[in-house]
Amino acid sequence: MIALISDIHSNLEALTAVLEDIDSRGAAERIYCLGDIVGYGPDPEACIDLVMERCPIHLLGNHDYALLNGAVGFNSIARGAIDWTRERMQPAAKSEPEMVRRWHYLEELEQIRQEGHVLFVHASPRDHINEYVLPTDADYNQEKLADIFDHMDKVCFVGHTHLPGIMTTEPRFLFPEEMDEECSVGDKKLVVNLGSVGQPRDGDKRASYVEYDGERVFFRRVEYDYDMTVAKVLMQSGLDERCGTRLMVGR
Ligand code: ZN
Repeated sequence: MIALISDIHSNLEALTAVLEDIDSRGAAERIYCLGDIVGYGPDPEACIDLVMERCPIHLLGNHDYALLNGAVGFNSIARGAIDWTRERMQPAAKSEPEMVRRWHYLEELEQIRQEGHVLFVHASPRDHINEYVLPTDADYNQEKLADIFDHMDKVCFVGHTHLPGIMTTEPRFLFPEEMDEECSVGDKKLVVNLGSVGQPRDGDKRASYVEYDGERVFFRRVEYDYDMTVAKVLMQSGLDERCGTRLMVGR
């Protein structure tokens, strides 16, 4: 069994709760992180340190890329949070070794991992860090989906939209509650979205992640102390308050 987490967005309370949940289930031998460890939230360093310690596989997300290279095409709230994060984290000549180590670690992240027929990326098999595979694409973008499915063998795990569920080749998007929070892969081609650990946007405030045993995908939700995260956001003048308040509604 592997556990898959994504879109932590510097939310230490959510990340800690998810790691505890994975540990208490005791089934996952490894934890993979599919990117966007930074952005929006108040605890980038602590989240990076935890993922460095716990996740042997960690892929690059668009917010991680923006931290290193500049936030192009971001809205003002997201860009503001990335600029705030960079100000804290970018090493200078006399920086602490941990700062330098974290920055180099982010610079080394890969964009894609393939294991047999299974693919792992932050966003989409044809645009690894930026393309959104949205639930509404099943109704309005069927050619886009057909091309995306042409770019993968069997199962592709993604994050990025912060909306957990699976996209089938029909095409149809199924939210976890429409399939009793789990699904069998069989010989189907599926894009599996993990949802977001640190900033869920499906109306459910709980942190989202997935476990996968090679045949079945299990969608997990975990309560965490978002009041604490919101309070930390509000204490940082460089973070827009909406980076915090949206956690209270899961949007
Ligand atoms: Zn994200």
